[in-house]
Amino acid sequence: MSAQLNKGQSSVRVFNFSAGPAVLPLEVLEQLRAELLDWGGSGMSVMEVSHRSKAFLSVAREAESDLRALLEIPAHYRVLFLQGGATGQFSAIPMNLTAADSEVDYLNTGAWSKKALAEAAHYCRVNVAADAADSGYSRIPPQSGWRLSERAAYLHYTANETIGGVEFPFVPEVPSPLVADMSSTLLSRPIEVSRFGLIYAGAQKNIGPAGLCIVIVREDLIGHARPGTPAVWDFKAMADEGSMLNTPPTFAWYCAGLVFKWLRRHGGLGAMADRNRAKAELLYRTIDESSFYRNPVEPACRSWMNVPFTLARPALDGEFLSGARAAGLVNLEGHRSVGGMRASLYNAMTIEGVTALTQFMREFARRHA
Ligand SMILES: *Cc1c(COP(=O)(O)O)cnc(C)c1O
Repeated sequence: MSAQLNKGQSSVRVFNFSAGPAVLPLEVLEQLRAELLDWGGSGMSVMEVSHRSKAFLSVAREAESDLRALLEIPAHYRVLFLQGGATGQFSAIPMNLTAADSEVDYLNTGAWSKKALAEAAHYCRVNVAADAADSGYSRIPPQSGWRLSERAAYLHYTANETIGGVEFPFVPEVPSPLVADMSSTLLSRPIEVSRFGLIYAGAQKNIGPAGLCIVIVREDLIGHARPGTPAVWDFKAMADEGSMLNTPPTFAWYCAGLVFKWLRRHGGLGAMADRNRAKAELLYRTIDESSFYRNPVEPACRSWMNVPFTLARPALDGEFLSGARAAGLVNLEGHRSVGGMRASLYNAMTIEGVTALTQFMREFARRHA
């Protein structure tokens, strides 16, 4: 592995297309390496300092203010830095936003929304307002056909299905608060936070290392947790303590903060959107121009972040993957539930990486035509 690696950057780096935990910006990793033994002249790693120390409290505050600046989060939203991943939120959200007799709307667009609604069903009545099963989860059902319940406490949807590679090309418009799982899409482009009641995202896709989950929640939606909700899952209790009711994942929080600064240095979310659109278009064009590759998703609903594709001859999957690996292109195996390939193109994946992948794909198809 040499020539195809991040140009002029580091001789050991590959192009990592993992769906998560995923590639991080090289600049961030280099800063982490430089500071590993002695963070800011403290003689300690940031991993070794108290979350209650002045130094760490300022890390926490800065991370929040950088995130607020990037997403233009209005003042009446709270930002929480939690643990338990997006999966923890599948339960925490109904625990905080519903009572036992509540009804909630869920859109089922694939593997992650299915898991989210299964968890919610332990707490309240779940109305599946739309299910994309009839299309094999290859498109987003148009809003005109949704069967919303009369008084839903909220509507939950998965903005980007990380496994299926299906993405909402619009933001739903419903009377109830909108709750969005943005684990694999948050920070990939600007969004209008004020249209949402709650946005959540596990960090390990597009934000930072695993162990951190970000929740952005409108103030009026907190303070209503059910009796008996564990304190670490109670949004109000966590908000009151600055997400430090107990020891937070300090290192993951610190790294996420460095990623926010990296995003701001590189033009913010508008610039990311342009880069991400260009990367996705390049890969989809390569797939569509060849009869050798196929992506099953309706074009309008194709994900910018996760691109699943299959080869015309699945018997060649192993050879494709080992050839890619030899060219410095790794973690292209599809999710274990669907097979084939999947390339994840998060913010930290460079256009050089996607170009190298498409060159490899064209050459592989030519050799096996
Ligand atoms: C990865 C992912 C999850 C699960 O995240 P965990 O942090 O593993 O709990 C949930 N939703 C989406 C859309 C994801 O991509």
